[in-house]
Amino acid sequence: MTIPRRDPRRERIARNRCHPEHDVVLTEQEHDGASAAEWTGPNGLRRRDPRQVGFIGPNGIKRIDRSGAQQSATLGTRATRTTAAAATKRHVEIESPAFMVAVVPDMAGGRLSSHDRDLLGLARQLADADGNSPGAVLAIVMGPHKESQWGDAGVDRLMAFEDSAFDGYSPEARLAALEAVEREMAPRYWLLPDASTGGADLGRRLAARLGERPATGVWSIEPTSGTSTGWQCTARGGAGSLDIQRPLARIVLAVEECAEPVDETRHAARPLALSQPLPRLLGRIDDQGRVPVDPAGIALAEAEFILSAGNGVKDWEGFHHAARVLGATEGASRVVVDDGFMARDRQVGATGTWVTARVYVAVGISGAIQHLQGIQRCDKVVAINKDPDCDMIKRADLSVIGDAGDILSALVARVEQEREEQRDAA
Ligand SMILES: Cc1cc2nc3c(=O)[nH]c(=O)nc-3n(C[C@H](O)[C@H](O)[C@H](O)COP(=O)(O)OP(=O)(O)OC[C@H]3O[C@@H](n4cnc5c(N)ncnc54)[C@H](O)[C@@H]3O)c2cc1C
Repeated sequence: MTIPRRDPRRERIARNRCHPEHDVVLTEQEHDGASAAEWTGPNGLRRRDPRQVGFIGPNGIKRIDRSGAQQSATLGTRATRTTAAAATKRHVEIESPAFMVAVVPDMAGGRLSSHDRDLLGLARQLADADGNSPGAVLAIVMGPHKESQWGDAGVDRLMAFEDSAFDGYSPEARLAALEAVEREMAPRYWLLPDASTGGADLGRRLAARLGERPATGVWSIEPTSGTSTGWQCTARGGAGSLDIQRPLARIVLAVEECAEPVDETRHAARPLALSQPLPRLLGRIDDQGRVPVDPAGIALAEAEFILSAGNGVKDWEGFHHAARVLGATEGASRVVVDDGFMARDRQVGATGTWVTARVYVAVGISGAIQHLQGIQRCDKVVAINKDPDCDMIKRADLSVIGDAGDILSALVARVEQEREEQRDAA
């Protein structure tokens, strides 16, 4: 066994930026696997040097990485940093869980949404509260999905029902599956997202079927003082006007940001199946598919897919055509609205509409703070911009650097070609 030994002299030098050996000691620390921005302080606590946080951008100006990952020219490429971060995650394997915490994620678009990840973070709090007899987080997925990062999201057991009975709006089949899980595993808690397009409906149906009163609009939980297993929750009530504190119910419908998503551990996500096949159901609900709506008529606050124009857009015909072809709702920055290119009700931002789209495409928008405030609850942000250093690119999950007109017309051509190929194949 190696006993980690501290070197007070090196620690002192690492803290003193004026010491002649400061840089040498930091480099040695990096070779030892430690970040130059962090060291152990005299009292044994980890300390951070805010001056070391960030990296030097291509124009020589110091930048802070807004994605949260520490970026430094000395820490290698983004890919190696990501691999290193993944490698440092603690692996958690729960062999014989004392109980189950069942989570039914919405899986919008076939993947875990940020709301689902928050919910899994909440489930982990419940499962890990008692270190001596931990529970397991069981994710139940119904219908096809494309998710592969279950373990990183905090899932110990994964139960996937991939029957076509779960396609589209199928609350009867879903409820039957959840009932079967209840009969076989009797989870200690049921967690669903309190989202109007998914878990809110299913969770209330489950509560009615099991004859239990759910806790809805939950945004935080904490252990009840004096007990080891009791929890109480704070939930939104009175149409969002007040907070209600009550003991945590067994069926929990939680809102977004109810907990921090899991990011320090990786769990086993072992596949699990029911011992009995699900009974065949004669459903009374027939899903006839989605009603086509004109994206231009959708209020910005409710739009799922927004194509938003900024001052970098010059070809307005091309922009409107792209929005029509992609089926996106149009948004705009304030400059564009002030210049009269778009109506006032299309403005996104602090003094416009705060949007919650699943995908927000910012075309030629620099990313001023007032604009970024309005898109902070969007799931995925795509930036199209000529300037690789602008703030929108730093905020974006995916960036395309180049002229907005060229990129939009290439995108439109690609989509039209795909559709034509699909038509020919049909
Ligand atoms: C009190 C207050 C409230 C405000 N509220 C809001 C608000 O609610 N919403 C809002 O949006 N703004 C708001 N603003 C304005 C905000 O500060 C910015 O001025 C505005 O967001 C900038 O808009 P923009 O990014 O479209 O334009 P610019 O800042 O001019 O950026 C244009 C971007 O387009 C890129 N570009 C240029 N040409 C091309 C090309 N050919 N192809 C691709 N990219 C190109 C540039 O690189 C640049 O990044 C507010 C300001 C104040 C003071």
